[in-house]
Order: sequence, then C-alpha cells, then structure tokens
Amino acid sequence: MKFATQETGFWLIHQGQKIYFPNNNLAFGSAIELEAVSKRIIQIGEWENAPLYLLEESQEEREWTGLRDLLHLPKEKFNLLNRGVELNHFFKTHQFCGKCGHQTQIAPDEWAVQCQNSACHYRTYPVICPSIIVAVRKEAEILLASHQRHIRRDGSAGLYTVLAGFVEVGETFEQTVEREVFEETGIKIKNIRYFGSQPWAFPNSQMVGFLADYDSGEIRLQEEEIVDAQWFRFDQPLPQHPADGTIAAALIKATLEICQKEAN
Ligand SMILES: [Zn+2]
Repeated sequence: MKFATQETGFWLIHQGQKIYFPNNNLAFGSAIELEAVSKRIIQIGEWENAPLYLLEESQEEREWTGLRDLLHLPKEKFNLLNRGVELNHFFKTHQFCGKCGHQTQIAPDEWAVQCQNSACHYRTYPVICPSIIVAVRKEAEILLASHQRHIRRDGSAGLYTVLAGFVEVGETFEQTVEREVFEETGIKIKNIRYFGSQPWAFPNSQMVGFLADYDSGEIRLQEEEIVDAQWFRFDQPLPQHPADGTIAAALIKATLEICQKEAN
C-alpha cells in the first residue's frame, strides 16, 4: 500500500461503480488538493504517464459517471477503472481473516489482504469469478436471447444478447459453454473457439468469450432466466443489443462477419 500526500497524479474517485470523471477525464492533483490526505489511498497503476490512485468516497455528492458509461474508453483505461472498482470491493468484503477471524490489512507488496494475527498471517487474494459468454451461429443466423433482468415494464423482451453464465467448480470453460447454451435454450453446439476476455467489475467477474456453431436441437427456453431466444439473420436488423465496448458486442459483430463471409 502506498500513501500519497505530496505526490500528484490521477485519482480514481468512486462510489462503488460510480466514477468521478469531470471534463471527460479522471481528477488530477495532489492528495492535499483533493482533500484526501487522511483517507486510505493506494496506487493501482498509471494513467496518462502519471500515478493512478484509488479513493472511495462514501459520503460526498459529486457528478458521478457510471462505469458502464465509460465503455468507449480505450480498453487499457477501462480495465484500470475495473481494477480499481474490483479491488475496492475485495478490500471491503475481506476486512477479516476467513481462517481465524482476526482483522486484515492490505498487503504491502501485492494485491492481497493479510491477516494481522501474528500466529496466522493468512493471505487472501482478490476473488475473480470466471463467467463464459458465447455467440452461437447457425449458417446465416446468430442466437440471441433476452433475459428476465432485461424485461421491459410492459412485460415484453428488452435487450437481446449472447448467452452467458458462471463457471461451476470443477468445470472447464468449454463444458460451461455447452452446459449454459443447452440449459438456457435447449441447443447443442460444436466447434467452440476461444475469442477473448474482459474483466467485468459488476462486481468481480472475468468474462471469457467464445464463438460456437449450432449442432442440433430446437429452441426450448429456460423460463426462469430467459424471456425469449431467437435466431437472427445477419442481413436483417437486430433487436436492441449490447453497447460497443462490451465483449458481448464484439462477439455479435464477429459472428455476423462470419455469417456474411459464409454467405458470399
Ligand atoms: Zn487469520
């Protein structure tokens, strides 16, 4: 942990997933200027060649910007904001040792908390929950689903997106991909290929993206989770779908490109 009083740098001032982003950038200055001297400050990386400090404000009212509204930033910057929000969530939820119950402190040399009981000294590392996200293609069509959490006030389906779900203990990513697609839509898939990943501080996931092809089956919805799922043709307008900057949007784009290539 690094305490900063005189140093200047950029400040990731946040309240949970709300970030202080005045004039389209993080605040710049010293801890004194930012009235942050007595608070717990850690450096979490570099932002525009200056140190980047993390500071949570639980009380102050500011003009906050939602983390999701910063998805247009370059990936490296967005991921640093993710890091700050995730680390803070980790520190706040690990103030006591899971082994002996004593208080912990942030470790000085790595992202971890350390038990302050000298007979224990157990270290706990940030909890990152892997979750798969997959775009399924069937010839010229992509499978998109609308989730219960995106339902509109009138009960109709809202946002449509690719399928996703958490990895269970003992599963490979590929097994999770097959299981989630089958559970949510009744579709069997093949040719599962790794696509890319995205840290996702909502609150502490790592989205692991895959492309896959349809193998067999008819759509059968898992109604507790899914409101609707359909095959959408690449050359027809898509329903409302995720914003650019998300791995979901990148997966949809990549799949539509494959559809188009196959069609030519
Ligand atoms: Zn302990």
